[in-house]
Amino acid sequence: MQTTGRSHAPVQRTLAGSAAAMRASSIGSAAAAPKPFRSTRPRRAHAAVVRAEGGNGSSEYDYDIITIGAGSGGVRASRFATSYGAKVACVELPFDYISSDSKGGVGGTCVLRGCVPKKLMVYASEYADDFKDSVGFGWEERGVPSHSWTTFLEAKRKELQRLNGAYKNTLKNASVELLEGFGRIVDAHTVDVSGKRYTAKNILIAVGGKPTKLPIPGAELCITSDEALELPAQPKKITVLGGGYIALEFSGIFQRFGGEVHTVFRQPMPLRGFDEEVRKFAFEQYAAAGLTMHAGHTPVEVRKQPNGLLTCVVADKDGNQTEITDNDHVMMATGRSPKVGGLGLEEVGVALGKKGEVVVNAYSQTSVPSIWAVGDVTDRINLTPVALMEGMALAKTLALGEPTKPDYDFVPSAVFSNPSIATVGLTEEQAVAKYGDIDVYTSSFRPMRNTISGSPMRTFMKLVVAAGSDVVVGCHMVGDDSAEIMQGFAVALKMRVTKAQLDTVVGIHPSAAEEFVTMRSVSRRIRKGQPVTAAA
Ligand SMILES: Cc1cc2nc3c(=O)[nH]c(=O)nc-3n(C[C@H](O)[C@H](O)[C@H](O)COP(=O)(O)OP(=O)(O)OC[C@H]3O[C@@H](n4cnc5c(N)ncnc54)[C@H](O)[C@@H]3O)c2cc1C
Repeated sequence: MQTTGRSHAPVQRTLAGSAAAMRASSIGSAAAAPKPFRSTRPRRAHAAVVRAEGGNGSSEYDYDIITIGAGSGGVRASRFATSYGAKVACVELPFDYISSDSKGGVGGTCVLRGCVPKKLMVYASEYADDFKDSVGFGWEERGVPSHSWTTFLEAKRKELQRLNGAYKNTLKNASVELLEGFGRIVDAHTVDVSGKRYTAKNILIAVGGKPTKLPIPGAELCITSDEALELPAQPKKITVLGGGYIALEFSGIFQRFGGEVHTVFRQPMPLRGFDEEVRKFAFEQYAAAGLTMHAGHTPVEVRKQPNGLLTCVVADKDGNQTEITDNDHVMMATGRSPKVGGLGLEEVGVALGKKGEVVVNAYSQTSVPSIWAVGDVTDRINLTPVALMEGMALAKTLALGEPTKPDYDFVPSAVFSNPSIATVGLTEEQAVAKYGDIDVYTSSFRPMRNTISGSPMRTFMKLVVAAGSDVVVGCHMVGDDSAEIMQGFAVALKMRVTKAQLDTVVGIHPSAAEEFVTMRSVSRRIRKGQPVTAAA
């Protein structure tokens, strides 16, 4: 079982960045120095900065750029390109909440079946803990508060429709022409949209990814994240297969709503690729929060019981089987793959990688010079802000005439599980491999709120410092508000803050975040890759 895609973990994210850079050289020199084009569109005032050195002008084409996919990367690239004076059309499938080969919708995965609906579900589920915690603070218990799944589902759908409309307006206001239908590349400059052909000087593939299922008996009975966001009722019992961030996020959501949740993953700990100490701490906290974790187990089959509920059979490494019975649902969160089916990529000679990802150079150019790709379809770092960055860089490259590479250094990320996790920079293991000599600062504590609430949940914080330079190269947190806190530290790490500089920062009291600037005692020193005695 592939529990995490390469993009779902910090270790792999960093490697993915460098792998992308390495691929750059393999595509060839033409790709390494992309040629900006001359736009067909009347230039606006700022267009004076465009370097029109791109060989043929694009007047022979219908558009300067046709983007296939109006998700995070496609929308961003398209609207920035028009703001730089290019004439752009964007192709997108008709709207549906659950994606398929023929359904999608402007906004893409993040807005319609990823980050946004997921976070709305996280918010909805968190109230359950708030109600419980409030009792310790004197709020009298008046029975168990009830939750209307239907009310929530309706509110969520309304918000997604609003966002879909807002994204359409964004494209319209940016003068990006929306072409609804299935986009297929016919040749290096032609795109077929549900039977009608359009030409462009450059084609941008921004089709994202789709959930994949394990090929086990009964896979057709399982749901993926798409359906998990659209369930008609709250599951009383659910088994989630996978140990990556999506699996842990949905496990936390359903558990907070009061469901019995079993989380199954092959590794001894979830979240492969994250800092090992973070994984261990999170593992313990997930159990404390109420998840039943089946570590080191592989799904064998899923069966429908006579009463309509599902049995999920899992096996440990010795083949001993466990039956998890009476599930309302079994969710497979076992990886995603690039959505390249039917795009015509092989036919036009666009090189694909092992997972079907579009291989690109450092400028997001494919093996066909006029065809480019950004976002999840390239399987670099599969996160919305990264797709946005790649889209903006490409718009500069193509429409502004400024060849621009996305910068994959210090990309922060979060897991909105219970508890949440956030991270930026290197794990301890990566830092040891890179620098040999590092200092590690850690702190684990019970947050003030939980002293009175009675919640058993604890918080963990960690700084990884390159001992030679004193530069903080990694920052990790498990606990409430970690994503909000980490965004600020991502700025500091990107600016190459040193530990000595962090030590000069005054804390905000009382807060959990202040701990990051008050960690004075080194937890362990590692020299030449080996731990040495911790010093106070
Ligand atoms: C459950 C879940 C939770 C997530 N949570 C987070 C999170 O918290 N934070 C985060 O940063 N990232 C998160 N992600 C990842 C994030 O959603 C993606 O990285 C991001 O959406 C990628 O953007 P994209 O532009 O590459 O592709 P998408 O946003 O997937 O957009 C691709 C678009 O192309 C369209 N399309 C595909 N094929 C065709 C075709 N042939 N013709 C026309 N249109 C086509 C699709 O319909 C889609 O709208 C999550 C993903 C999932 C699944």
